[in-house]
Amino acid sequence: MKIEGDWSNSAACLEADPELFFPIGESPTAQRQIEEAREICANCPVRRPCLSFALKTNVQYGIWAGTVPVERARLRKRMTILGAKPRRLIKAKAVRATSQQAKELQP
Ligand code: SF4
Repeated sequence: MKIEGDWSNSAACLEADPELFFPIGESPTAQRQIEEAREICANCPVRRPCLSFALKTNVQYGIWAGTVPVERARLRKRMTILGAKPRRLIKAKAVRATSQQAKELQP
């Protein structure tokens, strides 16, 4: 993915298949794509600014910093409740979310 801003130049997904980051539906293929995208994000040097961007701009689709939309919605809700800034929550939880935790957050 290419997003405006210096951080995106270092994104691990720049050369990845975009379909991994924008899976359609909840099929086994889509789940596999999500897992592959999460693996790429796990080794990305710009996860924090990526997630901060996704939260600030309320991105509704795709995998950003290893999070799916429902996870980001929950993070935004927590931010609203706690009055927290994205950076604090990112440090606290989101970037460290495991695949198992992410599955538990699925609707
Ligand atoms: S964290 Fe994931 S989605 Fe964000 S820039 Fe890195 S590889 Fe791309």
